[in-house]
Amino acid sequence: MMSNLAYERLHENLKRLKLTTMEAVLDNHLELAAKKNLSVIEILDELVDQEYATKEATKLEFRTRSSGFPVRKTLEQFDFGFQPSIDRKAITELCTLRFMYNAENVIFLGPPGVGKTHLAIALATEALKSGFIVYYTYAHDLIQKLKQANYENTLAKKLKTLCKYKLLIIDEIGYLPFDKEGANLFFQLISRRYDKLSTVLTSNKAFSEWDTIFGDNVIAAAILDRLLHHCTTINIKGQSYRLKERQKIGLNPQKRGEQ
Ligand code: ADP
Ligand code: MG
Repeated sequence: MMSNLAYERLHENLKRLKLTTMEAVLDNHLELAAKKNLSVIEILDELVDQEYATKEATKLEFRTRSSGFPVRKTLEQFDFGFQPSIDRKAITELCTLRFMYNAENVIFLGPPGVGKTHLAIALATEALKSGFIVYYTYAHDLIQKLKQANYENTLAKKLKTLCKYKLLIIDEIGYLPFDKEGANLFFQLISRRYDKLSTVLTSNKAFSEWDTIFGDNVIAAAILDRLLHHCTTINIKGQSYRLKERQKIGLNPQKRGEQ
C-alpha cells in the first residue's frame, strides 16, 4: 500500500532528523486525528509543539546541570510567611529579570539559615527558564580557582570564562576571609562584570564589616563601590529555617516566642 510506504518513511525520517518526540507520539496522533476528524494543520501543530516542548525541556535540564547549583530550589518552595522581613514585591520584581537586562546586581544579606542561598538559586532558576546561562559558585571556591589560574598564568582566560555567564551567583561571602591576592582577584572579576553583567551575592556580614572580609578597607571600598552602584539589596532579618525544622522534630526544644 502506498500510504504504508509513506508511513514507514515518515517514521524513518523523523528518527534521522532526531525528532524523537514526534516519532514517538506519531501513531497516537494519527489515531486521534482519524477519530476526531482533525485537519492536517491541527495534527502538525500538535506534533511540532510537543517536539518543541521536549527539546526546550532537555535544553533547560542541561543548562541547569551545568550551572553548578548545590541544590535545586524554586520560588514556589519559599515560605514568605516565615520570613516577614523580606519585601515580597522586591522579589517579584527581581523575578521579572529586569535587573539582568540592566546589568544590575542582587545581594542577599542575613544570618545563616534565613534563605539566602534558596532565594539566589530560585532567582537563577528563573533566569535559566528564560534561556540565560547561569553559574553558581561558593566565594571560597571561586577565589581558589582564580588563584590557581593566576598561578598557571591563565587568569585572563578564566576571567573571560566567568564573564560568559549572564548571571553569576557568588554564595557565602564572608564565612572565610580573603587574603590580599584573593581580594585583588575578586576585585578584578567584579570590575570586569560591572555595568555589563549581573552578579548575585550572598553574605552573612553587613556591608560595614566587608573590610574585615577583604582584609583591606581600600579594596573593600572599591569592590563595594562597583557592586552597589546598580544593586538591589535584600536584607533578611529573621529566624533560621533550619532551626525551625529542628524545633519541629523536637531536637531543639524552645518555647514559642522565647527568642
Ligand atoms: P542561608 O543561605 O541563608 O544560610 P538557605 O537558603 O540555605 O539559608 O536555607 C536553609 C534551608 O532552609 C534550605 O533548605 C532552604 O531551602 C530552607 N529555607 C530557608 N528559608 C526558607 C523559607 N522561608 N521557606 C522554605 N524553605 C526555606
Ligand atoms: Mg547559604
